[in-house]
Amino acid sequence: MLNRVCQLFGIEKPIIQAGMIWCSGWELAAAVSNAGGLGIIGSGSMYPDVLRSHIQKCKSATAKPFAVNVPLLYPNIEEHIQIIIDEKVPIVFTSAGNPKTFTAKLKAAGIVVVHVVSALKFALKCQEAGVDAIVAEGFEAGGHNGREETTTMVLIPQIKAHIQIPIIAAGGIATGAQMAAAFALGAEAVQIGSRFVASLESSAHPNFKQAVINTNEGDTQLTLKQLTPVRLIKNDFFKRVDEAEKKGADKDELNALLGRARAKKGMFEGDLVEGELEIGQVSAMIKSLLPAAEIVDEIYKDYLRTLRELSQLL
Ligand code: NDP
Ligand code: NDP
Repeated sequence: MLNRVCQLFGIEKPIIQAGMIWCSGWELAAAVSNAGGLGIIGSGSMYPDVLRSHIQKCKSATAKPFAVNVPLLYPNIEEHIQIIIDEKVPIVFTSAGNPKTFTAKLKAAGIVVVHVVSALKFALKCQEAGVDAIVAEGFEAGGHNGREETTTMVLIPQIKAHIQIPIIAAGGIATGAQMAAAFALGAEAVQIGSRFVASLESSAHPNFKQAVINTNEGDTQLTLKQLTPVRLIKNDFFKRVDEAEKKGADKDELNALLGRARAKKGMFEGDLVEGELEIGQVSAMIKSLLPAAEIVDEIYKDYLRTLRELSQLL
């Protein structure tokens, strides 16, 4: 396919693997890029030296373009940006912050910049800041999420009506039929997270991968809206947060309950009771653990089949 996103990134298939803390290291990113999509290293869980080593390993594992995701609320952000520039990473996805902060610096270094948003007002800021494309992420998505609870179905067409740069749809997408639906709404690519957590190359703990496969309808929920809203599997830790919120816990009490490194505990160390288990609603549809290349291939074939079926309705 040759649409604006494929041209911008230099990729064959407009399927982007989301940058996910603790789950998307260099092995997953390289596998997705080698399969013709765009792989992303999730730098939010990496100390600067770890990020540098993951970028270098990714460069040795693929000759294709790949990206790094940088959550802008990360503590060592300046160091991460410098490493990305020094290592000549071709594409950066920024998220969780103001797109004005680093876009000009990254673009001056010849890097393609994409920013992740959950609402039209943030998309307008991105366009003003000069980013090359945006990811519009709906409420179905796993992990950090918008406060407004706007679904992908409602978000994409609203943004499409006001924005000229390409839109990459995210949240609730794991199949080619869902990809085709996103394209019908105006997206020119999809960003997929949950489906790639359940891949052989993901660095998630095997317990977490199995938990994703076991997840059924209604098993995830957006929580901690007073702090940073995040969609989690409703495990014991989630239930404790839920009870505290129902008793009127304030921000300090919730921060104390959250403590430190819960995401690492759950997703990287495999503690399914005490850890934070960040995954999207679409996990209810994911029932197998496959190599990343097979996931890309299956989604793309399913997308083409869906388009053929829909064209028969004409
Ligand atoms: P290495 O085994 O050489 O490790 C790469 C880097 O990961 C090293 O700098 C290492 O630091 C660091 N590291 C080791 N344990 C942890 C941990 N528990 N949390 C965060 N960083 C850690 O290279 P590989 O490519 O073979 O990767 C294996 C390791 O890389 C994994 O065991 C994992 O720790 C880390 N990794 C982290 C990911 C993330 O999202 N942050 C994703 C994938 C892998 P040190 O030398 O101090 O141990
Ligand atoms: P916490 O403050 O609870 O814990 C920090 C975690 O990040 C620890 O596990 C720590 O590893 C690791 N880490 C990596 N680099 C650093 C660093 N420079 N300083 C301190 N800790 C570091 O944070 P969270 O686990 O909730 O979030 C970690 C990061 O991930 C944040 O930057 C956040 O913005 C981002 N994030 C992004 C999400 C997304 O959807 N894009 C979702 C959730 C978080 P260790 O235990 O080995 O010290």
